[in-house]
Amino acid sequence: MRVRHVSTAVVRHAAVRCGRCPALIAFAVTEAGRSMPIDVEPDVAGNVAVHVDGAGRIRARVVSRDRPVLGYERLHLPHFATCAAAQRSPATASNVVPLYRKRAARRVRESQVDQLLPDPG
Ligand SMILES: [Zn+2]
Repeated sequence: MRVRHVSTAVVRHAAVRCGRCPALIAFAVTEAGRSMPIDVEPDVAGNVAVHVDGAGRIRARVVSRDRPVLGYERLHLPHFATCAAAQRSPATASNVVPLYRKRAARRVRESQVDQLLPDPG
């Protein structure tokens, strides 16, 4: 499959303000077809591999040991890992575990892998 090399400019162009904090985020589509808010700027500490597909959609998948980031992808942080509102008032979203920037990436990865990558067996 031919894909355009991910362009940070595309993600920036799609940026919107988070509804709960001042951060700029973009919405990517996961392999499961869900919408996932990501931080606009790439971050090597991120665990979400992002690329722009042939239709210009921002696609995201959670990296894992078996599926590391590929050359055409860029690593981003999922916004819920960095959202200031989520960290400040976890009670507002009881289903969201309070996360702390970057150090939380591993925990996010594990939970996201469970969620996004169904057991093939
Ligand atoms: Zn936010």
